[in-house]
Amino acid sequence: MQDNIATLPDGVVTFTSTVITYTGSPASISGIATVAYIIAAALFILSLAGLGHPKTSRKGNIYGMTGMLIALIATAFLLTTSGLMIFLAAMIPAAVIGAVLASRVKMTDMPQLVAMLHSFVGAAAVLVGFATLRGHNDLTGSALLIHNIEIFIGVCIGSITFTGSIIAYAKLDGKIGGKPLILPARHILNLIVILITIALGVMFAQAVGDHDMTKAMWVLGIATAITGLFGIHMVMAIGGADMPVVVSMLNSYSGWAAAAAGFMLSNDLLIITGALVGSSGAILSYIMCKGMNRSFISVILGGFGAAAGTTVVIEGEHTEIQVDGTVDLIRNAKSIVIVPGYGMAVAQAQHTLSEITKELEAAGIKIRFAIHPIAGRLPGHMNVLLAEAKISYDIVLEMDEINEDFPETDLVLVIGANDIVNPSALDDPGSPIAGMPVLEVWKAKDVIVMKRSMASGYAGIGNPLFVKSNTQMLFGDAKKNVDAILTAYRNC
Ligand code: NDP
Repeated sequence: MQDNIATLPDGVVTFTSTVITYTGSPASISGIATVAYIIAAALFILSLAGLGHPKTSRKGNIYGMTGMLIALIATAFLLTTSGLMIFLAAMIPAAVIGAVLASRVKMTDMPQLVAMLHSFVGAAAVLVGFATLRGHNDLTGSALLIHNIEIFIGVCIGSITFTGSIIAYAKLDGKIGGKPLILPARHILNLIVILITIALGVMFAQAVGDHDMTKAMWVLGIATAITGLFGIHMVMAIGGADMPVVVSMLNSYSGWAAAAAGFMLSNDLLIITGALVGSSGAILSYIMCKGMNRSFISVILGGFGAAAGTTVVIEGEHTEIQVDGTVDLIRNAKSIVIVPGYGMAVAQAQHTLSEITKELEAAGIKIRFAIHPIAGRLPGHMNVLLAEAKISYDIVLEMDEINEDFPETDLVLVIGANDIVNPSALDDPGSPIAGMPVLEVWKAKDVIVMKRSMASGYAGIGNPLFVKSNTQMLFGDAKKNVDAILTAYRNC
């Protein structure tokens, strides 16, 4: 590596020495680092296994954090002194910024943070690609070709991930509208972009093979710009209701971008970690598509769902109920199901709900929670909040486990949920969410929906549940209402 550094232009030395000092380190240190990397990889796998259930998710997080710490320490040991200085200069402020941001972020803003973090991985893959291209290598023949393909693919995936994640961040944060942007002939446009990118890939490999690095840089730069535009177009075309899949799809892309960076840097741990993130994100995207009865391809092709927050006219009159009436229905019920949604998370009503649950269980009422796979704004959002409020996992059921029980349920309390209880998904083939499985709450004897108004949810569509004869609306902030219900229940 030291020989290689000598042949590099100024400015590249620093970067390369920071990240690829692996081969130049003493054998014993690199051997220890390899063992550390294997341990870290095993911890990442254990972390994923732990994150599979709320009960073990805390342990999963600890495994993941320990694995990352081991990986960072091992990497630091492989560095030269100057490399270590640069490593620390980048790491320390980044760690401080990361810790401050993560501690300040509201649970409901988590998807935006995650989207932003994905964009960093994409940007890193692009930068590593350009730096690797500028760096020296002794490869020839097919090894050089494979290396160039790695660089090209890594940069393209990174660029799509970078721009796509920034658009996802802006959409999730409401900085740009959730409405899909549908350009005329967009599929042909996408196809042309893919074909141009492949052609650029061939040109790039030829330019590097001819040692024409200026041309290679230009071609790679153009490919970065084109795939970046593709990332913007791809996410702009995706409507509000499909955003959950986009979040997990970009998670998957960020993993593949990291794996590509791992190939470029010959870093096994980065390859393993990237592959774990990439494949788990892909599996999650598949599960979410199944949960919404959508095909992955139709999600990518986009155009599903409208803007959120609008008041949508639905035929029929809704009936209002007040806190006292709600408490009467609760008292007379033998079995109650609570359906939490995004509004419960915004209002932070979960702790009061936990109190209510204890009171009702003590009174012999059967009380359970029904969780839709895309409730809230990120996968597992509701499970995390209910776990945080110490609500027992045993009474928190997934949609498939509870959907058949609604006809035998006396009362359903829908708290800040909307799209996930919309019957038009099943009744109206023309609905933008037609075919999406929903919680069939209207089959219960009584339904109370707690929200602030008749406004639509994230998918931006009207909800006929609100005007059903067995549904009553309790308007107001979810936290204020559940607090009032708890007080009234205790006082009467
Ligand atoms: P929705 O967005 O459909 O509905 C939430 C409802 O909560 C709104 O209609 C709103 O009505 C109400 N609300 C907001 N604030 C409060 C408050 N303080 N008190 C009481 N009610 C409140 O949420 P759902 O959970 O039902 O569905 C999730 C939606 O989010 C789906 O469309 C899904 O596609 C999308 N999504 C999911 C992601 C995921 O990974 N889970 C990621 C991104 C999007 P009002 O304004 O009248 O109060």
